[in-house]
Amino acid sequence: MRPPLFEIARPANVGEAIHEALGPQEGMFYSGGTELLLAMKLRVIHTDKLIDIKGIRGLSEIAHVDEKTFQIGARCTHSQIEQSELVQRILPTLAQLCGNVANVRVRNAGTIGGNLCFGEPHADPPTLLAALGARLCLSSIDGERLVDADDFILDEFETVREPHELLTRILIPIPNGPVVYQRFRHGERPAVNAAMLWSLDPSGRTIANARIRIGALGARPQRLERVEAALCGVTTAEAAQAVSDVLGSSLDSIDVTDDRHGSAEYKRHLAGVLLRRNIAEAETMCRERRR
Ligand SMILES: Cc1cc2nc3c(=O)[nH]c(=O)nc-3n(C[C@H](O)[C@H](O)[C@H](O)COP(=O)(O)OP(=O)(O)OC[C@H]3O[C@@H](n4cnc5c(N)ncnc54)[C@H](O)[C@@H]3O)c2cc1C
Repeated sequence: MRPPLFEIARPANVGEAIHEALGPQEGMFYSGGTELLLAMKLRVIHTDKLIDIKGIRGLSEIAHVDEKTFQIGARCTHSQIEQSELVQRILPTLAQLCGNVANVRVRNAGTIGGNLCFGEPHADPPTLLAALGARLCLSSIDGERLVDADDFILDEFETVREPHELLTRILIPIPNGPVVYQRFRHGERPAVNAAMLWSLDPSGRTIANARIRIGALGARPQRLERVEAALCGVTTAEAAQAVSDVLGSSLDSIDVTDDRHGSAEYKRHLAGVLLRRNIAEAETMCRERRR
C-alpha cells in the first residue's frame, strides 16, 4: 500500500532541521526510513511532512570526544558502525551487535538514531547502550540536552524525545573491562537480549563494578541490581557461583510481557540462560587477557 501524499524537506544543517520540525507544519524526521516508511505504508503513522536528515553533515561521524569517551553520530548506519575501525578497536561488542542487526539491506539504510527513536522493544542497541552508560544528545531550539540511555525509552514505541528534538549523537564511555552482549531470536529481531559490563580492580581478577541490562522482556531495557551487587568484590572465576542464589528471584521481580516472541515465563527463562552465558564469556575474556 502507498502512503498518503506528504511533503519532504531537506535541511542542510541541524538548525534548519529543528526549524522544519517546529512548523508551521510540524514534520517527522526521516533518517533511513526502514521503520518510518513501512509504518506510513501500513497507515500506522501519518505525517504531512518528512524532514530528511540524510544530507546533514556531521551526523554520521564516529570519533573520540576525549580519552574516556567516544561518540557516534545518530545518522550512522548499522553497517557503518560494524565496519568502523575505531568501534572495532575500542568496543568490538558494539561492532558485532550492529553486524547482526536485521539483514544487509536494513543495515545499510537503517541508523542507530532511528533505531533508538523508534522505541521498538525488540531492538538490539538500546540494551547494550544502557549497560554501557551511554548518553543521548537531543538538540532543539532551546539548545542541547543529554539523556541517559537508561532513561530514554519510556514505553513501547515511546521515548522522552519531544517531536521537535533531533537526536544528534550518542556519547559512549570507553569501557576498561569486558563487555558482552547475547541475544536469542526466532525471527529477525531479538526475542530477549542481555548485556553486561565489568570493570575490574587493578589485579584484573576481581570485579569492582558490574552493569547488567536485559531487553525485550518488557517495554524497555531493565537493570538487575541484585545480580550486579552479587558480582561486586568477587573474583571473575567465582562470578557464576556468586549470582546463582539471586538470579532467579531477580528475574521474577522485573516486568515481563507475553508477546509473539514467547510467554513471560519462557522469556524469563531465556534471560537467565543469556545472563549465565554473558558471565561465562566475560570470565573467558578475563582469563585470556591475563595470559
Ligand atoms: C526487516 C527488519 C529487521 C530488523 N531487525 C532488527 C534487529 O534484528 N535488531 C534491531 O535492533 N532492529 C531491527 N530492525 C529495526 C531497524 O534496525 C531500526 O529500527 C532502524 O535502524 C531504524 O533506523 P532508520 O534510520 O531507518 O529510522 P527511520 O525509519 O528513518 O525512523 C524511525 C523513527 O525514528 C525517528 N528518527 C529517526 N532518526 C531520528 C533522529 N536522528 N532524531 C530524532 N528522531 C529520529 C523517525 O522520525 C521515526 O519516528 C529491523 C527492521 C526491519 C525492517
